Amino acid sequence: MTTLTRDEAADRPTVPGAGAGEQLMLIDGERMPALAGGTIDVFDPSTGELIGTTPDGQAADVDRAVAVAERTFDERVWQGLSGAARQKILWRAADLIEQHTEELAALESLNNGMVIPMAQALIATAAETIRYYAGWATKLYGITSEISSLEAQYHTYTLREPVGVCALIIPWNAPSTLTVQKVAPALAAGCSVVIKPSEETPFTALRLAELFEQAGVPRGVINVVTGYGESAGATLAAHDKVAKIAFTGSTEVGKSIVKAAADNLKKVTLELGGKSPVIVFDDADIDAAIAGAANAIFMHSGQICAAGSRLYVQRPVFDKVVHGIARIAENLKIGPGSDLTTQIGPIVSQKQLARVLSLISSGIEEGAELVTGGERVHRDGYYVQPTILANPEPGARVIQEEIFGPVLTAIVFDTVDDVVAMANDSTYGLGAAIWTTDISKAHLTAKKLQAGFVWLNCHYVLDNSVPAGGYKQSGWGRELGPEGLDPYLQTKSVFAALTPAPFLNA
Ligand code: NAD
Repeated sequence: MTTLTRDEAADRPTVPGAGAGEQLMLIDGERMPALAGGTIDVFDPSTGELIGTTPDGQAADVDRAVAVAERTFDERVWQGLSGAARQKILWRAADLIEQHTEELAALESLNNGMVIPMAQALIATAAETIRYYAGWATKLYGITSEISSLEAQYHTYTLREPVGVCALIIPWNAPSTLTVQKVAPALAAGCSVVIKPSEETPFTALRLAELFEQAGVPRGVINVVTGYGESAGATLAAHDKVAKIAFTGSTEVGKSIVKAAADNLKKVTLELGGKSPVIVFDDADIDAAIAGAANAIFMHSGQICAAGSRLYVQRPVFDKVVHGIARIAENLKIGPGSDLTTQIGPIVSQKQLARVLSLISSGIEEGAELVTGGERVHRDGYYVQPTILANPEPGARVIQEEIFGPVLTAIVFDTVDDVVAMANDSTYGLGAAIWTTDISKAHLTAKKLQAGFVWLNCHYVLDNSVPAGGYKQSGWGRELGPEGLDPYLQTKSVFAALTPAPFLNA
Protein backbone atom coordinates (compact mmCIF):
# COMPACT_ATOMS: atom_id res chain seq x y z
CA MET A 1 0.00 0.00 0.00
CA THR A 2 1.40 3.43 -0.97
CA THR A 3 1.23 6.02 1.78
CA LEU A 4 2.79 9.42 2.27
CA THR A 5 3.70 10.48 5.77
CA ARG A 6 2.33 13.70 7.10
CA ASP A 7 5.74 15.36 6.79
CA GLU A 8 6.17 14.23 3.19
CA ALA A 9 2.73 15.55 2.37
CA ALA A 10 3.44 18.87 4.09
CA ASP A 11 6.67 19.24 2.11
CA ARG A 12 4.89 19.22 -1.25
CA PRO A 13 5.36 22.42 -3.27
CA THR A 14 2.89 25.22 -2.64
CA VAL A 15 2.73 26.59 -6.16
CA PRO A 16 -0.64 27.68 -7.54
CA GLY A 17 -2.63 24.69 -8.75
CA ALA A 18 -0.67 22.25 -6.58
CA GLY A 19 -2.92 19.73 -4.91
CA ALA A 20 -4.50 18.29 -8.06
CA GLY A 21 -3.06 15.15 -9.72
CA GLU A 22 -3.18 11.75 -8.06
CA GLN A 23 -4.29 12.58 -4.54
CA LEU A 24 -4.77 10.09 -1.69
CA MET A 25 -7.14 10.18 1.28
CA LEU A 26 -6.00 11.55 4.64
CA ILE A 27 -6.52 9.17 7.55
CA ASP A 28 -4.62 9.32 10.84
CA GLY A 29 -2.23 11.88 9.38
CA GLU A 30 -1.25 9.64 6.47
CA ARG A 31 -2.13 9.78 2.81
CA MET A 32 -3.55 6.46 1.68
CA PRO A 33 -5.41 4.89 -1.22
CA ALA A 34 -8.74 3.09 -0.92
CA LEU A 35 -8.36 -0.41 0.54
CA ALA A 36 -10.01 -1.85 -2.59
CA GLY A 37 -7.70 0.26 -4.78
CA GLY A 38 -10.31 2.03 -6.94
CA THR A 39 -9.99 5.65 -8.02
CA ILE A 40 -12.32 8.40 -9.22
CA ASP A 41 -11.41 10.70 -12.12
CA VAL A 42 -11.59 14.44 -11.44
CA PHE A 43 -12.06 17.01 -14.22
CA ASP A 44 -11.45 20.69 -14.93
CA PRO A 45 -14.93 22.02 -15.83
CA SER A 46 -13.48 24.89 -17.85
CA THR A 47 -11.96 22.46 -20.39
CA GLY A 48 -13.47 19.05 -19.60
CA GLU A 49 -9.91 17.69 -19.18
CA LEU A 50 -8.86 15.13 -16.60
CA ILE A 51 -6.86 16.85 -13.84
CA GLY A 52 -6.39 14.04 -11.37
CA THR A 53 -7.84 11.21 -9.34
CA THR A 54 -8.82 10.47 -5.78
CA PRO A 55 -9.40 7.11 -4.09
CA ASP A 56 -12.86 5.60 -4.47
CA GLY A 57 -13.45 5.17 -0.73
CA GLN A 58 -15.77 2.34 0.29
CA ALA A 59 -17.33 1.18 3.56
CA ALA A 60 -14.02 -0.32 4.77
CA ASP A 61 -12.24 3.02 4.28
CA VAL A 62 -15.00 4.86 6.11
CA ASP A 63 -14.78 2.34 8.98
CA ARG A 64 -11.05 2.95 9.19
CA ALA A 65 -11.42 6.74 9.26
CA VAL A 66 -14.24 6.66 11.80
CA ALA A 67 -12.25 4.29 14.05
CA VAL A 68 -9.30 6.73 13.99
CA ALA A 69 -11.54 9.70 14.73
CA GLU A 70 -13.20 7.77 17.56
CA ARG A 71 -9.82 6.81 19.04
CA THR A 72 -8.59 10.42 19.02
CA PHE A 73 -11.86 11.50 20.61
CA ASP A 74 -11.75 8.84 23.33
CA GLU A 75 -8.07 9.50 24.04
CA ARG A 76 -8.96 13.20 24.32
CA VAL A 77 -5.97 14.29 22.22
CA TRP A 78 -7.95 17.32 21.02
CA GLN A 79 -11.00 17.65 23.25
CA GLY A 80 -8.69 17.31 26.28
CA LEU A 81 -6.69 20.43 25.34
CA SER A 82 -7.67 23.65 27.06
CA GLY A 83 -9.90 26.01 25.12
CA ALA A 84 -6.98 28.43 24.94
CA ALA A 85 -4.72 25.76 23.40
CA ARG A 86 -7.35 24.86 20.79
CA GLN A 87 -7.89 28.54 20.08
CA LYS A 88 -4.18 29.10 19.47
CA ILE A 89 -3.94 26.18 17.04
CA LEU A 90 -7.07 27.29 15.18
CA TRP A 91 -5.64 30.80 14.82
CA ARG A 92 -2.46 29.28 13.45
CA ALA A 93 -4.54 27.28 10.95
CA ALA A 94 -6.32 30.46 9.85
CA ASP A 95 -2.97 32.20 9.33
CA LEU A 96 -1.60 29.26 7.34
CA ILE A 97 -4.69 29.09 5.14
CA GLU A 98 -4.47 32.83 4.55
CA GLN A 99 -0.80 32.45 3.60
CA HIS A 100 -1.84 29.77 1.07
CA THR A 101 -4.69 31.83 -0.42
CA GLU A 102 -3.15 31.94 -3.89
CA GLU A 103 -2.55 28.19 -3.99
CA LEU A 104 -5.95 27.24 -2.53
CA ALA A 105 -7.84 29.67 -4.77
CA ALA A 106 -6.07 28.35 -7.88
CA LEU A 107 -6.92 24.79 -6.86
CA GLU A 108 -10.55 25.66 -6.14
CA SER A 109 -10.87 27.43 -9.48
CA LEU A 110 -9.22 24.56 -11.37
CA ASN A 111 -11.46 21.93 -9.79
CA ASN A 112 -14.75 23.82 -9.47
CA GLY A 113 -14.54 26.45 -12.23
CA MET A 114 -15.19 29.47 -10.01
CA VAL A 115 -13.51 32.71 -11.01
CA ILE A 116 -10.23 33.40 -9.21
CA PRO A 117 -11.30 36.62 -7.42
CA MET A 118 -14.31 34.80 -5.94
CA ALA A 119 -12.12 31.86 -4.90
CA GLN A 120 -9.65 34.23 -3.23
CA ALA A 121 -12.44 36.05 -1.40
CA LEU A 122 -13.88 32.76 -0.17
CA ILE A 123 -10.51 31.54 1.13
CA ALA A 124 -10.06 34.84 2.99
CA THR A 125 -13.54 34.41 4.46
CA ALA A 126 -12.74 30.81 5.45
CA ALA A 127 -9.73 32.05 7.43
CA GLU A 128 -12.01 34.55 9.20
CA THR A 129 -14.54 31.80 9.95
CA ILE A 130 -11.79 29.81 11.68
CA ARG A 131 -10.78 32.85 13.72
CA TYR A 132 -14.41 33.49 14.69
CA TYR A 133 -14.83 29.94 16.02
CA ALA A 134 -11.34 29.93 17.57
CA GLY A 135 -12.70 32.64 19.87
CA TRP A 136 -15.56 30.39 20.93
CA ALA A 137 -13.19 27.63 22.11
CA THR A 138 -12.53 29.72 25.26
CA LYS A 139 -16.18 30.61 25.78
CA LEU A 140 -17.94 27.27 26.19
CA TYR A 141 -19.75 28.36 29.34
CA GLY A 142 -22.35 26.34 31.19
CA ILE A 143 -24.68 27.70 33.86
CA THR A 144 -24.84 27.30 37.63
CA SER A 145 -28.16 26.88 39.36
CA GLU A 146 -29.36 26.98 42.92
CA ILE A 147 -31.81 24.17 43.37
CA SER A 148 -34.85 25.59 45.11
CA SER A 149 -37.35 22.75 44.98
CA LEU A 150 -35.48 20.25 47.21
CA GLU A 151 -34.75 20.29 50.95
CA ALA A 152 -31.08 19.30 50.75
CA GLN A 153 -28.60 21.71 49.22
CA TYR A 154 -26.84 21.01 45.97
CA HIS A 155 -24.25 22.75 43.89
CA THR A 156 -25.42 22.34 40.30
CA TYR A 157 -23.73 23.28 37.08
CA THR A 158 -23.74 22.39 33.41
CA LEU A 159 -20.84 21.47 31.13
CA ARG A 160 -20.90 21.96 27.39
CA GLU A 161 -19.11 18.97 25.90
CA PRO A 162 -18.30 17.92 22.33
CA VAL A 163 -20.78 15.44 20.82
CA GLY A 164 -18.13 13.02 19.51
CA VAL A 165 -17.19 11.95 15.99
CA CYS A 166 -18.78 14.20 13.38
CA ALA A 167 -19.22 13.35 9.69
CA LEU A 168 -19.02 16.44 7.49
CA ILE A 169 -20.45 15.88 4.00
CA ILE A 170 -19.68 18.63 1.48
CA PRO A 171 -21.11 19.55 -1.96
CA TRP A 172 -19.18 20.79 -4.98
CA ASN A 173 -20.37 24.36 -5.32
CA ALA A 174 -18.22 26.09 -2.65
CA PRO A 175 -15.97 23.32 -1.38
CA SER A 176 -13.54 25.28 0.83
CA THR A 177 -16.15 27.53 2.38
CA LEU A 178 -18.53 24.73 3.22
CA THR A 179 -15.74 22.51 4.59
CA VAL A 180 -14.46 25.25 6.89
CA GLN A 181 -17.97 26.25 8.04
CA LYS A 182 -18.22 22.78 9.55
CA VAL A 183 -14.63 21.97 10.56
CA ALA A 184 -14.11 25.24 12.47
CA PRO A 185 -17.04 24.94 14.92
CA ALA A 186 -16.51 21.17 15.25
CA LEU A 187 -12.88 21.72 16.30
CA ALA A 188 -13.72 24.67 18.55
CA ALA A 189 -16.16 22.37 20.35
CA GLY A 190 -13.52 19.62 20.69
CA CYS A 191 -14.96 17.06 18.24
CA SER A 192 -13.00 14.76 15.91
CA VAL A 193 -14.19 14.67 12.30
CA VAL A 194 -14.37 12.69 9.08
CA ILE A 195 -14.84 14.89 6.01
CA LYS A 196 -16.41 13.48 2.83
CA PRO A 197 -15.91 16.03 0.04
CA SER A 198 -17.87 15.87 -3.20
CA GLU A 199 -16.48 13.36 -5.70
CA GLU A 200 -16.48 16.25 -8.22
CA THR A 201 -14.37 18.63 -6.10
CA PRO A 202 -12.27 16.74 -3.55
CA PHE A 203 -8.95 18.58 -3.73
CA THR A 204 -9.24 21.64 -1.50
CA ALA A 205 -10.69 19.69 1.46
CA LEU A 206 -7.59 17.46 1.42
CA ARG A 207 -5.25 20.45 1.29
CA LEU A 208 -7.13 22.32 4.02
CA ALA A 209 -6.97 19.27 6.29
CA GLU A 210 -3.20 19.12 5.78
CA LEU A 211 -2.88 22.78 6.72
CA PHE A 212 -4.93 22.25 9.90
CA GLU A 213 -2.54 19.41 10.84
CA GLN A 214 0.45 21.57 10.00
CA ALA A 215 -0.96 24.18 12.38
CA GLY A 216 -0.99 21.64 15.20
CA VAL A 217 -4.30 19.80 15.11
CA PRO A 218 -3.22 16.28 16.20
CA ARG A 219 -3.18 13.64 13.48
CA GLY A 220 -6.38 11.64 13.24
CA VAL A 221 -8.61 14.44 14.56
CA ILE A 222 -9.37 15.49 10.96
CA ASN A 223 -9.70 12.66 8.44
CA VAL A 224 -10.76 12.99 4.81
CA VAL A 225 -12.38 10.07 2.99
CA THR A 226 -12.91 10.61 -0.72
CA GLY A 227 -15.56 8.67 -2.60
CA TYR A 228 -19.03 8.69 -4.08
CA GLY A 229 -22.10 9.74 -2.14
CA GLU A 230 -23.97 6.49 -2.50
CA SER A 231 -21.02 4.47 -1.10
CA ALA A 232 -18.69 6.51 1.16
CA GLY A 233 -21.32 9.15 1.97
CA ALA A 234 -24.12 6.71 2.70
CA THR A 235 -21.84 4.58 4.92
CA LEU A 236 -20.93 7.63 6.98
CA ALA A 237 -24.56 8.67 7.28
CA ALA A 238 -25.51 5.24 8.65
CA HIS A 239 -22.36 4.64 10.76
CA ASP A 240 -23.14 3.77 14.38
CA LYS A 241 -19.94 5.41 15.69
CA VAL A 242 -20.77 8.77 14.12
CA ALA A 243 -22.56 11.01 16.62
CA LYS A 244 -23.41 13.88 14.31
CA ILE A 245 -23.75 14.62 10.61
CA ALA A 246 -23.38 18.09 9.16
CA PHE A 247 -24.54 17.90 5.57
CA THR A 248 -24.69 20.50 2.82
CA GLY A 249 -26.17 19.43 -0.48
CA SER A 250 -29.39 18.71 -2.28
CA THR A 251 -32.73 18.35 -0.51
CA GLU A 252 -33.17 14.89 -1.99
CA VAL A 253 -29.93 13.56 -0.49
CA GLY A 254 -30.65 15.46 2.74
CA LYS A 255 -33.80 13.37 3.18
CA SER A 256 -31.83 10.15 2.68
CA ILE A 257 -29.32 11.30 5.32
CA VAL A 258 -32.12 11.80 7.84
CA LYS A 259 -33.37 8.26 7.22
CA ALA A 260 -29.86 6.77 7.44
CA ALA A 261 -29.18 8.67 10.68
CA ALA A 262 -32.24 7.25 12.42
CA ASP A 263 -30.72 3.94 13.54
CA ASN A 264 -28.37 5.42 16.12
CA LEU A 265 -30.24 8.75 16.38
CA LYS A 266 -27.36 10.86 15.12
CA LYS A 267 -27.75 14.57 15.49
CA VAL A 268 -28.28 16.01 12.01
CA THR A 269 -27.94 19.49 10.57
CA LEU A 270 -28.81 20.10 6.93
CA GLU A 271 -28.06 23.00 4.60
CA LEU A 272 -30.07 22.18 1.50
CA GLY A 273 -31.31 23.58 -1.76
CA GLY A 274 -33.10 26.83 -2.54
CA LYS A 275 -35.27 28.64 -5.06
CA SER A 276 -34.92 32.12 -3.68
CA PRO A 277 -37.24 34.94 -4.76
CA VAL A 278 -36.03 38.44 -5.61
CA ILE A 279 -38.86 40.99 -5.36
CA VAL A 280 -38.55 44.36 -7.11
CA PHE A 281 -41.20 46.96 -6.22
CA ASP A 282 -41.89 49.85 -8.60
CA ASP A 283 -40.52 52.36 -6.05
CA ALA A 284 -37.10 50.64 -5.96
CA ASP A 285 -33.85 52.25 -7.07
CA ILE A 286 -34.24 50.48 -10.41
CA ASP A 287 -30.62 50.62 -11.53
CA ALA A 288 -29.46 49.14 -8.22
CA ALA A 289 -32.18 46.47 -8.37
CA ILE A 290 -31.19 45.50 -11.92
CA ALA A 291 -27.52 45.16 -10.99
CA GLY A 292 -28.36 43.35 -7.73
CA ALA A 293 -30.78 40.90 -9.34
CA ALA A 294 -28.34 40.10 -12.17
CA ASN A 295 -25.56 39.44 -9.67
CA ALA A 296 -27.90 37.30 -7.54
CA ILE A 297 -28.48 34.81 -10.35
CA PHE A 298 -25.42 34.97 -12.61
CA MET A 299 -22.62 35.04 -10.02
CA HIS A 300 -20.81 31.65 -10.02
CA SER A 301 -23.09 30.66 -12.93
CA GLY A 302 -26.04 30.43 -10.53
CA GLN A 303 -24.41 27.59 -8.57
CA ILE A 304 -25.10 29.15 -5.18
CA CYS A 305 -27.71 27.74 -2.80
CA ALA A 306 -29.26 31.18 -2.19
CA ALA A 307 -29.11 32.29 -5.86
CA GLY A 308 -31.96 34.68 -6.66
CA SER A 309 -33.50 32.40 -9.27
CA ARG A 310 -37.13 33.63 -9.17
CA LEU A 311 -37.50 37.32 -10.03
CA TYR A 312 -40.83 39.02 -9.26
CA VAL A 313 -41.20 42.57 -10.66
CA GLN A 314 -44.09 44.97 -10.10
CA ARG A 315 -45.99 45.61 -13.35
CA PRO A 316 -45.07 49.28 -14.08
CA VAL A 317 -41.32 48.48 -14.10
CA PHE A 318 -41.38 44.87 -15.34
CA ASP A 319 -40.10 45.48 -18.89
CA LYS A 320 -37.45 47.94 -17.77
CA VAL A 321 -36.04 45.60 -15.10
CA VAL A 322 -36.12 42.45 -17.24
CA HIS A 323 -34.49 44.18 -20.20
CA GLY A 324 -31.89 45.75 -17.92
CA ILE A 325 -30.92 42.33 -16.53
CA ALA A 326 -30.92 40.87 -20.07
CA ARG A 327 -28.49 43.59 -21.21
CA ILE A 328 -26.12 42.66 -18.37
CA ALA A 329 -26.51 38.94 -19.19
CA GLU A 330 -25.61 39.49 -22.83
CA ASN A 331 -22.46 41.44 -21.94
CA LEU A 332 -21.02 39.13 -19.28
CA LYS A 333 -17.70 37.62 -20.28
CA ILE A 334 -17.89 33.83 -20.15
CA GLY A 335 -14.70 31.79 -19.82
CA PRO A 336 -12.40 29.78 -17.59
CA GLY A 337 -12.27 30.81 -13.94
CA SER A 338 -8.48 31.16 -14.20
CA ASP A 339 -8.80 34.01 -16.76
CA LEU A 340 -8.89 37.17 -14.65
CA THR A 341 -11.18 38.90 -17.17
CA THR A 342 -13.84 36.16 -16.88
CA GLN A 343 -17.12 37.12 -15.19
CA ILE A 344 -18.96 33.81 -15.58
CA GLY A 345 -17.18 30.47 -15.31
CA PRO A 346 -18.40 27.02 -16.32
CA ILE A 347 -20.99 24.70 -14.81
CA VAL A 348 -19.23 22.14 -12.61
CA SER A 349 -19.74 18.97 -14.67
CA GLN A 350 -21.08 17.45 -17.87
CA LYS A 351 -23.95 15.93 -15.85
CA GLN A 352 -24.93 19.26 -14.32
CA LEU A 353 -24.62 21.00 -17.71
CA ALA A 354 -27.08 18.50 -19.22
CA ARG A 355 -29.52 19.04 -16.33
CA VAL A 356 -29.42 22.85 -16.69
CA LEU A 357 -29.98 22.68 -20.48
CA SER A 358 -32.83 20.20 -20.07
CA LEU A 359 -34.57 22.44 -17.51
CA ILE A 360 -34.25 25.46 -19.83
CA SER A 361 -35.89 23.42 -22.64
CA SER A 362 -38.67 22.28 -20.32
CA GLY A 363 -39.39 25.92 -19.38
CA ILE A 364 -39.72 26.93 -23.04
CA GLU A 365 -41.91 23.88 -23.76
CA GLU A 366 -44.11 24.79 -20.79
CA GLY A 367 -44.80 28.24 -22.28
CA ALA A 368 -42.16 30.61 -20.91
CA GLU A 369 -40.83 33.35 -23.21
CA LEU A 370 -37.06 33.09 -23.80
CA VAL A 371 -35.81 36.66 -23.22
CA THR A 372 -32.11 35.91 -23.61
CA GLY A 373 -29.62 33.01 -23.57
CA GLY A 374 -30.92 29.47 -23.52
CA GLU A 375 -27.97 27.76 -25.24
CA ARG A 376 -24.81 25.91 -24.40
CA VAL A 377 -21.73 27.99 -25.21
CA HIS A 378 -19.91 25.99 -27.86
CA ARG A 379 -16.35 25.71 -26.67
CA ASP A 380 -14.48 23.12 -24.61
CA GLY A 381 -15.80 22.89 -21.07
CA TYR A 382 -19.30 23.14 -19.65
CA TYR A 383 -20.61 26.65 -20.29
CA VAL A 384 -24.24 27.88 -20.43
CA GLN A 385 -25.38 31.31 -21.61
CA PRO A 386 -26.94 33.43 -18.86
CA THR A 387 -30.64 32.85 -19.48
CA ILE A 388 -33.92 34.63 -18.68
CA LEU A 389 -37.32 32.96 -19.05
CA ALA A 390 -40.31 35.33 -18.68
CA ASN A 391 -43.66 34.43 -17.15
CA PRO A 392 -43.63 30.63 -17.02
CA GLU A 393 -46.75 28.98 -15.57
CA PRO A 394 -46.68 28.88 -11.73
CA GLY A 395 -46.44 25.07 -11.67
CA ALA A 396 -43.66 24.89 -14.30
CA ARG A 397 -40.55 22.94 -13.35
CA VAL A 398 -38.37 26.03 -13.87
CA ILE A 399 -40.33 27.78 -11.13
CA GLN A 400 -40.48 24.86 -8.72
CA GLU A 401 -37.14 23.05 -9.10
CA GLU A 402 -33.70 24.26 -8.14
CA ILE A 403 -31.75 24.59 -11.43
CA PHE A 404 -28.32 25.51 -9.99
CA GLY A 405 -27.34 27.26 -13.23
CA PRO A 406 -27.44 30.85 -14.61
CA VAL A 407 -31.18 30.69 -15.30
CA LEU A 408 -33.63 33.34 -14.09
CA THR A 409 -37.42 33.17 -14.27
CA ALA A 410 -39.07 36.62 -14.39
CA ILE A 411 -42.69 37.05 -13.30
CA VAL A 412 -44.91 40.13 -13.11
CA PHE A 413 -46.94 41.01 -9.98
CA ASP A 414 -49.39 43.72 -8.88
CA THR A 415 -49.81 43.74 -5.09
CA VAL A 416 -47.77 42.87 -1.98
CA ASP A 417 -50.18 40.06 -1.12
CA ASP A 418 -49.84 38.57 -4.62
CA VAL A 419 -46.06 38.59 -4.55
CA VAL A 420 -45.82 37.19 -1.02
CA ALA A 421 -48.13 34.32 -2.00
CA MET A 422 -46.06 33.57 -5.12
CA ALA A 423 -42.73 33.90 -3.32
CA ASN A 424 -43.87 31.51 -0.56
CA ASP A 425 -45.31 29.00 -3.05
CA SER A 426 -42.22 26.80 -2.89
CA THR A 427 -41.07 23.77 -0.94
CA TYR A 428 -37.81 25.69 -0.38
CA GLY A 429 -37.23 28.57 2.04
CA LEU A 430 -33.57 29.57 1.91
CA GLY A 431 -33.13 33.23 0.86
CA ALA A 432 -35.23 36.14 -0.39
CA ALA A 433 -34.42 39.69 -1.48
CA ILE A 434 -36.62 42.80 -1.55
CA TRP A 435 -35.81 45.93 -3.53
CA THR A 436 -37.79 49.04 -2.47
CA THR A 437 -37.19 52.53 -1.09
CA ASP A 438 -40.21 52.24 1.24
CA ILE A 439 -38.76 51.20 4.61
CA SER A 440 -42.07 50.06 6.13
CA LYS A 441 -42.94 47.98 3.08
CA ALA A 442 -39.48 46.38 3.16
CA HIS A 443 -39.73 45.28 6.79
CA LEU A 444 -43.41 44.29 6.66
CA THR A 445 -42.81 42.16 3.56
CA ALA A 446 -39.68 40.62 5.11
CA LYS A 447 -41.80 39.39 8.03
CA LYS A 448 -44.17 37.59 5.68
CA LEU A 449 -41.57 35.73 3.65
CA GLN A 450 -40.80 32.11 4.53
CA ALA A 451 -37.02 32.26 4.23
CA GLY A 452 -33.97 31.83 6.44
CA PHE A 453 -32.33 35.01 5.10
CA VAL A 454 -34.05 38.15 3.85
CA TRP A 455 -31.92 40.78 2.14
CA LEU A 456 -33.30 44.33 1.84
CA ASN A 457 -31.74 46.18 -1.13
CA CYS A 458 -28.85 43.73 -1.25
CA HIS A 459 -28.12 40.02 -1.80
CA TYR A 460 -25.61 37.43 -0.54
CA VAL A 461 -24.60 39.41 2.53
CA LEU A 462 -23.37 36.91 5.11
CA ASP A 463 -21.19 37.21 8.19
CA ASN A 464 -19.49 34.72 10.47
CA SER A 465 -21.42 36.12 13.44
CA VAL A 466 -24.85 35.73 11.83
CA PRO A 467 -26.62 32.34 11.61
CA ALA A 468 -27.34 31.03 8.12
CA GLY A 469 -29.81 28.34 7.12
CA GLY A 470 -33.16 27.54 5.64
CA TYR A 471 -36.88 27.37 6.39
CA LYS A 472 -39.04 24.51 5.09
CA GLN A 473 -37.16 21.95 2.95
CA SER A 474 -34.07 24.16 2.72
CA GLY A 475 -32.63 22.72 5.89
CA TRP A 476 -32.45 21.91 9.58
CA GLY A 477 -30.44 24.03 11.97
CA ARG A 478 -28.00 26.84 11.23
CA GLU A 479 -24.34 27.28 10.37
CA LEU A 480 -22.26 30.32 11.38
CA GLY A 481 -22.78 32.48 14.45
CA PRO A 482 -23.27 30.99 17.92
CA GLU A 483 -26.05 28.75 16.54
CA GLY A 484 -23.48 27.17 14.22
CA LEU A 485 -21.51 25.92 17.25
CA ASP A 486 -24.42 24.44 19.24
CA PRO A 487 -24.92 21.26 17.17
CA TYR A 488 -21.34 20.18 17.95
CA LEU A 489 -21.95 20.43 21.71
CA GLN A 490 -24.12 18.62 24.23
CA THR A 491 -25.01 19.68 27.75
CA LYS A 492 -24.20 17.67 30.87
CA SER A 493 -25.85 18.67 34.16
CA VAL A 494 -23.87 17.89 37.34
CA PHE A 495 -25.52 17.78 40.78
CA ALA A 496 -23.27 17.83 43.88
CA ALA A 497 -24.87 17.26 47.31
CA LEU A 498 -23.70 19.89 49.83
CA THR A 499 -25.85 18.55 52.68
CA PRO A 500 -26.93 14.93 53.18
CA ALA A 501 -29.22 13.99 50.34
CA PRO A 502 -32.37 12.04 51.23
CA PHE A 503 -32.78 8.70 49.48
CA LEU A 504 -36.06 7.65 48.01
CA ASN A 505 -36.23 4.60 50.30
CA ALA A 506 -35.20 6.52 53.44
P1 NAD B 1 -25.54 16.39 -3.52
O1 NAD B 1 -26.65 16.32 -2.53
O2 NAD B 1 -25.65 15.61 -4.76
O3 NAD B 1 -24.16 15.94 -2.85
C1 NAD B 1 -23.67 16.57 -1.69
C2 NAD B 1 -22.71 15.62 -0.99
O4 NAD B 1 -23.45 14.50 -0.53
C3 NAD B 1 -21.60 15.07 -1.89
O5 NAD B 1 -20.41 14.92 -1.12
C4 NAD B 1 -22.14 13.71 -2.28
O6 NAD B 1 -21.12 12.77 -2.60
C5 NAD B 1 -22.84 13.31 -1.00
N1 NAD B 1 -23.90 12.30 -1.17
C6 NAD B 1 -24.62 12.02 -2.29
N2 NAD B 1 -25.48 11.00 -2.04
C7 NAD B 1 -25.31 10.65 -0.74
C8 NAD B 1 -25.93 9.70 0.12
N3 NAD B 1 -26.89 8.89 -0.30
N4 NAD B 1 -25.53 9.63 1.42
C9 NAD B 1 -24.57 10.46 1.88
N5 NAD B 1 -23.94 11.38 1.11
C10 NAD B 1 -24.31 11.48 -0.17
O7 NAD B 1 -25.33 17.95 -3.79
P2 NAD B 1 -24.35 18.64 -4.83
O8 NAD B 1 -24.94 18.44 -6.18
O9 NAD B 1 -22.95 18.23 -4.56
O10 NAD B 1 -24.46 20.18 -4.40
C11 NAD B 1 -25.45 21.03 -4.84
C12 NAD B 1 -26.56 21.13 -3.82
O11 NAD B 1 -26.07 21.63 -2.58
C13 NAD B 1 -27.65 22.09 -4.25
O12 NAD B 1 -28.92 21.55 -3.99
C14 NAD B 1 -27.42 23.31 -3.37
O13 NAD B 1 -28.53 24.11 -3.15
C15 NAD B 1 -26.95 22.66 -2.11
N6 NAD B 1 -26.24 23.64 -1.27
C16 NAD B 1 -26.85 24.16 -0.16
C17 NAD B 1 -26.22 25.13 0.62
C18 NAD B 1 -26.87 25.71 1.86
O14 NAD B 1 -26.16 26.30 2.65
N7 NAD B 1 -28.16 25.59 2.04
C19 NAD B 1 -24.95 25.56 0.26
C20 NAD B 1 -24.36 25.03 -0.88
C21 NAD B 1 -25.01 24.06 -1.63
